[in-house]
Amino acid sequence: MSAPNEPGWFPIALRLRDARVLVVGGGGIALNKIRLLLAHAARVEVLAPTLDDALTALRDAGDIHHIPAEAHPDQLDTLLPGCRLVYAATDDRTVNRAVAARADALNIPVCAVDDPTPSSFITPAQIHRGPVRIAISTGGAAPVLARRLRERIEAVMPAGLDGLARFLRDARAHVVTRCPDIDRRRRVWEAFLDGRGAEAAQRGNTETARQILDHLLDDTPVTGEVWLVGAGPGDPDLLTLRALHLMQNADSVLYDQLLPPDLLDRVRRDATRVFVGKQRDRHTMPQEQINAELIRRARMGERVLRLKGGDPFIFGRGGEEIEALMQAGIPFQVVPGITAASGCAAYAGIPLTHRDCAQSCLFVTGHARKDGTLDLPWARMAGSGQTIAIYMGVNALPDLCAMLVRHGLPPDWPAAIIERGTRPDQRVLTGTLDTLPHLARASNIGSPALILVGEVVRHRVVSSSFSEEKEAKRL
Ligand code: SAH
Repeated sequence: MSAPNEPGWFPIALRLRDARVLVVGGGGIALNKIRLLLAHAARVEVLAPTLDDALTALRDAGDIHHIPAEAHPDQLDTLLPGCRLVYAATDDRTVNRAVAARADALNIPVCAVDDPTPSSFITPAQIHRGPVRIAISTGGAAPVLARRLRERIEAVMPAGLDGLARFLRDARAHVVTRCPDIDRRRRVWEAFLDGRGAEAAQRGNTETARQILDHLLDDTPVTGEVWLVGAGPGDPDLLTLRALHLMQNADSVLYDQLLPPDLLDRVRRDATRVFVGKQRDRHTMPQEQINAELIRRARMGERVLRLKGGDPFIFGRGGEEIEALMQAGIPFQVVPGITAASGCAAYAGIPLTHRDCAQSCLFVTGHARKDGTLDLPWARMAGSGQTIAIYMGVNALPDLCAMLVRHGLPPDWPAAIIERGTRPDQRVLTGTLDTLPHLARASNIGSPALILVGEVVRHRVVSSSFSEEKEAKRL
């Protein structure tokens, strides 16, 4: 709430297309404003004895009109009448104030850049997404704060917002004709925005969006959609913006791995949560049953979030799920996530590739077959010049290390294991193929953990937030 003596600035959206705008100043300060004005199709006239290089280029391209003169009062009196706005944007505050006084006397809105006192308007920080404009103003009190807020808002705005806004604008007349009742129309728009129509429009899929809109206008049920989303290795800050966006829009969420609670907390509060992973009796819902549940929910019109640790297409059975959805004719999207190898390596300070010692990186599963055998490409894995990232390998760690040695890697070949990577209780153990199994057993390393094998382990850099000391305490 603003204090009574602080009436603030009234925000409006002004049409500038083909309007004359006078900018006084020929340097960088003027350039910033001129770019903004040109983006709004204003006719920009620049009053300045000389122009810097960037502005000269704009003049040569015919984007601005240059009046090569000082801002003398008689010059201003000739130029000001008929202007919709004036920017006093020289680096000389006295000149700017003189321009502002002149424009103000003629009742032409004027902004002396970075100087609210003589200004009759100020330019807010802006976010553009097609027809959508968000303006943030601190009334000139703290432009840097306004910019920071803009960055935060930018980060949570869906990337396709401009496509959505354009779609809504183009569909408006059609909806008014089909649905003259204003209350029902509002409900149609709301259902569209809350449903998968908005998603389709954001992705530029206007045909699907149009069909969904027509279904809503006809009052016929709309099928839902499944979002196969990678949630990263655990740290919620490693979610992609798209993952977060879909998590906040889902009607139901199916999750299996023990995703950390603070990650699940980011799913829309009233979404139905369905746990399909290992239950207390160690029973996992069979894949066919998970597929059937995804399809059943989507057919009821739900936007179903299938949330998976890491990346859905890396040891995540994402491929099988989308095959089932495709066969059932259910629309779906796949959103990549940071896979455990990337997340664990980064947070443990171990590079996955290195110019000197690892030109490639192999992702393999250490999950043994039913009969307990490990059927892996040993010959390929036991080479130098590469890093091996082994998923699901905790139980088989002794066998894995022994087999790699048997196939030719030296027993003192570097290896590391990262338990609960990227989470606050992450533990990292480094050793060799010979020592790592003992170290892991002695420290009681459990799942989820990732094994890294290769000389990159020697290049480990421990950042201050994961110091050896802190780790040692946790071990
Ligand atoms: N789709 C996932 C992998 C699923 S397989 C991804 O892309 O990361 C499950 C295995 O991933 C675990 O057994 C473990 O090896 C690894 N993993 C997943 N999250 C992990 C974490 N936070 N720390 C260490 N390993 C992890």
